[in-house]
Amino acid sequence: MKLTKKQLAQIKDKIQAERERVLTKLGIDEEMFTIKSEERSDEVDQATADYQRSQMLRFRNRDVFYSKKLKQALEKMNEGEYGCCEECDETISFKRLWARPTADLCISCKDEAEKEESSNIVGRQSKSLGKQVDMVKTV
Ligand SMILES: [Zn+2]
Repeated sequence: MKLTKKQLAQIKDKIQAERERVLTKLGIDEEMFTIKSEERSDEVDQATADYQRSQMLRFRNRDVFYSKKLKQALEKMNEGEYGCCEECDETISFKRLWARPTADLCISCKDEAEKEESSNIVGRQSKSLGKQVDMVKTV
């Protein structure tokens, strides 16, 4: 079932509001970070400052990524491609898009992708374990 124009307009509003919120937040982070570096004195524990910085950068990267996804969603909307699953071309349900406007997979493809992801992690782990065993052998 295709999304109605009204549903699309509702999601578009939501994406635009969300994007504005993230971009504002990124701007505030920028300010806070600048002030923090200037204010940093010798008394501040360097390790703590580094930790705070890395935490902030991690959140920041996530926000930058998210704002890119939101922009992509808007572009898709302009091209009339929004709401189609990238895997199977099925229309993603309004309910799912409303909850997660940046979704580009339908729920069943998303489930598949997640299953694959978790099996990949298991594969990787056993591979590195194998390497460790090899290393022990050569030593
Ligand atoms: Zn799909």
